[in-house]
Amino acid sequence: MRLLSYLLIIAVIGFFTACSNKEEERMGVIDKSTVSKAIKLMKEKHKNAEDWRIEKGALQVASFWKEVDGSKKEYIQFCVDNFVSDSNALDLAFSRLTKYFESLNGHMTRIALDFSWFIHVDEGEATPVDLMFSGYDVSANISNDFFNNKIAFYTILNFPFFSLDEKNDLGKNWTRKQWAYARIGDYFTSRVPSDLLLKIGEVASKADNYISNYNIFVGFLVDDKGNTFFDKTKKLITHWNLRDEIKAQYANPGGLAGQKMIYEVMNRIITQTIPVNVINSNEYSWNPVANKIFKDGRESDFKAEPNTRYQYLLDNFKARSACDKFNPVYKTYIERQFDRDMEMPQKEVEQLFVKLVSSPTVRKVAALIKQRLGRDLQPFDIWYDGFKARSTISDVELSAITKAKYPDSKAFAADMPNILKKLGFDDVMANRLASLIEVDPSRGAGHAMGAQMKSEKARLRTRIGKDGMDYKGYNIAVHEFGHNVEQTIDLQDIDYYPMNGVPNTAFTEAMAFLFQKRDLDLLGIKNDDPMKEYLLALDNFWASYEIMGVSLVDMNVWKWLYENPNADAEQLKDAVIRISKEIWNKYYAPVFGVKDQPILAIYSHMIDYPLYLSAYPVGHVIELQLDRYMKGKNFATELTRSLLGGRLTPKFWMMNAVGSEVSVQATIDASEEALTFVK
Ligand SMILES: [Zn+2]
Repeated sequence: MRLLSYLLIIAVIGFFTACSNKEEERMGVIDKSTVSKAIKLMKEKHKNAEDWRIEKGALQVASFWKEVDGSKKEYIQFCVDNFVSDSNALDLAFSRLTKYFESLNGHMTRIALDFSWFIHVDEGEATPVDLMFSGYDVSANISNDFFNNKIAFYTILNFPFFSLDEKNDLGKNWTRKQWAYARIGDYFTSRVPSDLLLKIGEVASKADNYISNYNIFVGFLVDDKGNTFFDKTKKLITHWNLRDEIKAQYANPGGLAGQKMIYEVMNRIITQTIPVNVINSNEYSWNPVANKIFKDGRESDFKAEPNTRYQYLLDNFKARSACDKFNPVYKTYIERQFDRDMEMPQKEVEQLFVKLVSSPTVRKVAALIKQRLGRDLQPFDIWYDGFKARSTISDVELSAITKAKYPDSKAFAADMPNILKKLGFDDVMANRLASLIEVDPSRGAGHAMGAQMKSEKARLRTRIGKDGMDYKGYNIAVHEFGHNVEQTIDLQDIDYYPMNGVPNTAFTEAMAFLFQKRDLDLLGIKNDDPMKEYLLALDNFWASYEIMGVSLVDMNVWKWLYENPNADAEQLKDAVIRISKEIWNKYYAPVFGVKDQPILAIYSHMIDYPLYLSAYPVGHVIELQLDRYMKGKNFATELTRSLLGGRLTPKFWMMNAVGSEVSVQATIDASEEALTFVK
């Protein structure tokens, strides 16, 4: 399942900057000597102020200043007049900004909630005008306005930005208030012209559309003898459904041939040797191994897909890198994804992943899989799905229980205090938290939306059928409820508003998974399979091994793109294939005994959500660290304590939560432990 991302508007303000009239106008028109002059005058006026504050503020304001903002003289005057040196006055400025930003974010979120109501909530008919409102981004021009009216410059001048390195270094001596000051410094870190932002949206939605409509009719795949292996009606989206079909076939004793066939399809997609006629079409039968297509039993000529896949990736690169020069702080898309959004340097994430994929545990788990399969490993066994604990109760029985318990969304809402008490919250806290979460019937599978101001409530959207909530819906509802509890504690009980939230989306997902894992306990059902935990550890380890390799490919492709900005789609394709084989040969070939496989390049998110993939494995790593740490402790107490770390960087958040930084060690340890039990 795709990670749901609930970015705080506050964090997004910087993304939606625009300068309305003169889009092409350069930033940073203030030269060094003008900055020096401003600094000199500021120091003369503010004798008690710390030099670094004056210097950082003046420099950072200069880096965003455009001609339209005023002359050099006006820049100097702005800095001298608006710099707040006295610490009490700065505190006052902080509390005012905090109040205003809470109101802004809170109301923007409230409007977005109202405008998307009939699209998200299963209430009445969704009409064309509802779609128009839900597609409108009311906050799109705020950052633009705030540069124009100079609120952004005032904020930058007095609460300057600290880089991730600075936060991770200086942060160890910061008070909570200093952290909160630094978080305000993150509000305005870019000033990208609106036409460039529109372009990103346009390219992203085209890439998304390409992926969303890339289906393979697997029932029309044939081998050399004309045998088919799947149902004629089976239409699988690339790559998720194709991958899931490979997974599903492990339960089928004769599934190997079908798995091999789908694997060939994936290779054809990566190498773009796939016939265009078989994409999203069942007009032809296709032998993916020989790469021949047939109609009415006769072979036909075909054209291969003309590198379309890589053209979309390239378009994404071009649109995103075009914004680099309007980001004085995070200068590349790689930095924006890792340093800014994930708040973990790309190099560090890479090292984290390499540590796991090159660990000796991989070979041990692989040997166990080989033994369980009774055959040599195939490259697609990166998706081995055999470490699943069999539930002692069927889905049908579980659904009967959940449907009786939750006939409608009101019943779930009424039960929230009990759920929280079962998780270890005391009565007062359980009732209070539940009163701050509103449950609405969802049109989709479900989602959670946090409030951004204390006077608003978080929303839990859950899908309930006419005959009540089935088990799948319940399982998702518990996951979303985990998001809501995180959002609510992080907003309502946090010490400083700018610290509200978690370091990145991987953290809120980790929280939601910790809830989801306990769904049967919450129903009062004890899963009596003693192997459950060990199987889960191995399943998690093997899934991490796979997705971390995919993420390494994704990162290396983007590094290559930045080194080769003028490459065409053909060159990009060659590079992706080369990079994926390199990663394979380094970390997978020694385990699988097969070289030169490009399979790690199959992930669709590589094309439509560039550099997002790393969030998944980081989320699982964090989840496991938290889970192991919480074992034997009160879940609610530990959860609350961890959450009140708020918007520390991941490094400090984890230190506060579990006493160590983000690390794959817990994932490895859990597997090593499991290996002694699972045979
Ligand atoms: Zn989630």
